Amino acid sequence: MYKLEKPERLLLGAVLVLLAAALLGPSVAQPAHSHDFADQRLWWHIPFALNVLSNLPFALWGALGLGCVVGWVWRSRALGQPRITAQHGLAALFFAGLLLTAAASAWYHWQPDDAGLLIDRLGMVVAFAGLLGLAAADRVSPRAGVLLGLVVLVLGPLSVWVWFASGNVLPWAVLQFGGMALVLWLACLKPLPGALAVRWGGVILMYAAAKLFELADHEVYAFTSHLISGHSLKHVVASCAAWPVVAAVVAALIEARKIRAESSSPSETEQATQVAPSAAKSCTSLPHNN
Ligand SMILES: [Zn+2]
Repeated sequence: MYKLEKPERLLLGAVLVLLAAALLGPSVAQPAHSHDFADQRLWWHIPFALNVLSNLPFALWGALGLGCVVGWVWRSRALGQPRITAQHGLAALFFAGLLLTAAASAWYHWQPDDAGLLIDRLGMVVAFAGLLGLAAADRVSPRAGVLLGLVVLVLGPLSVWVWFASGNVLPWAVLQFGGMALVLWLACLKPLPGALAVRWGGVILMYAAAKLFELADHEVYAFTSHLISGHSLKHVVASCAAWPVVAAVVAALIEARKIRAESSSPSETEQATQVAPSAAKSCTSLPHNN
């Protein structure tokens, strides 16, 4: 009953390797001056205004995605499918994580310090759990997706706590980069029947671009003549990693609506057989001219 399929065994092995790297690897310190952001402008009494306000797209994508998931669940229910599937739940977790990320990151950037960064990272963990779980549910198995999401929800906060308590950022880095490496591997596997058509390459590209903008915070700020900093752009670009997931949920919603419309409307043959007797009846009832 609990026999693991080959892709499940591979996924378990990959997670154990990442766990070993996080636990046994050398201690890595948080980069110095990590709270020293390039853009420190105060606008409308908002400190670090653009770094705070640039979190708004996370909230917009999160709200849009959650709305689409609700519509998808509703349509699936109308088709007689289980109310909540692993995909529904994990997609909802991802979008809820984006809403949390928007709030937590805005909180952190209002007054950047370690305590704020702790909250910021905890918000991101929820989005990560949904994203990794969704990728596994679509490529390995729904139960693997749910389990992976739960593992990230437990180990993610632990990795953040290790950094906060000891200064060792390695477990958090393994979760972030190892997690995206897992998504990259899962994207190379064949989608399961009924999988969401997420363009995972787009998600990974957006995430990688966001990381580059984060690293080049001061350079981008200087290059744009203090118009916008790399960190503000990082927020906007990272939020766009939600787009392929939203697009896939919308496609699933449209497909469910199409199936519902086709199943509820009579087929052309049925229509013809329904029309024929009434047409014959009206013909027989026509007055004869001769
Ligand atoms: Zn940030």
